[in-house]
Amino acid sequence: MTGRVKKKLNQKKIDPERLRLLKRRLAQAIPEPKCELDHKNGWQLLIATILSAQSTDKKVNEVAPELFRLHPTPASLAEAPPGEIEALVKSTGFFRNKTKSIQGASRRIVEDHGGEVPHTLDELVKLPGVARKTANVVLGSAYRITTGIVVDTHAGRVARRLELTEQTDPKKVEAELCEIFPPKQWIDSGHRLVLHGRYVCLARAPRCAECPLNEACPSREEDASLPPGKRAAAEKALVESRGTNNALVASSSPQK
Ligand code: SF4
Repeated sequence: MTGRVKKKLNQKKIDPERLRLLKRRLAQAIPEPKCELDHKNGWQLLIATILSAQSTDKKVNEVAPELFRLHPTPASLAEAPPGEIEALVKSTGFFRNKTKSIQGASRRIVEDHGGEVPHTLDELVKLPGVARKTANVVLGSAYRITTGIVVDTHAGRVARRLELTEQTDPKKVEAELCEIFPPKQWIDSGHRLVLHGRYVCLARAPRCAECPLNEACPSREEDASLPPGKRAAAEKALVESRGTNNALVASSSPQK
């Protein structure tokens, strides 16, 4: 740990032992964190991430295959009649704006980047409908390029409950998390926080008794019900099944 990070941790009063424990438990529960938006390349992930705003990855994964079957390239999607695209993505919500964004982004990729998704954050955030979170998702998951930590509604909530930050603005949350996690852990840490929030640290009813982070969490609402290894194994199985194959969430649906 660098002196700079030590200083920051002291300022935030994060106990280094607690931090080490929660990092270890999170890695044990989610050893191979991945973005849950299905994709075959960076462009598909970019389009899927834009569509996932105010929706769920599950819903986007239902809609996107037909969109990409009919329009397998940025050029094809850019040139399609907007009404056709609106109908295809309607069930993800905000479909008119999303259609403008995905067609606009595809057009710019063709016209300004030779049909290839740019590999820098600065270029990506200039595309229609692409903000910092989307750019971090695409660069991290499609290209393993580290530019920051993905902070969505889940990651922000989990980070606050774990008292890694008090911020509510996603950019400020990301900045503080980037001080806590070393850059080589940024991509995986972001996905771990997202997945932990999606499947265990639920917004309305966090599953504290089953949570592998229980002993390291200042916000736990009840004590752990099982040994840490069993809780981590249960979360691992749950994440790998995308929420379909574990009693851990029997009474709660995964939330976006
Ligand atoms: S103990 Fe509860 S509040 Fe803390 S991270 Fe786990 S589920 Fe969330």
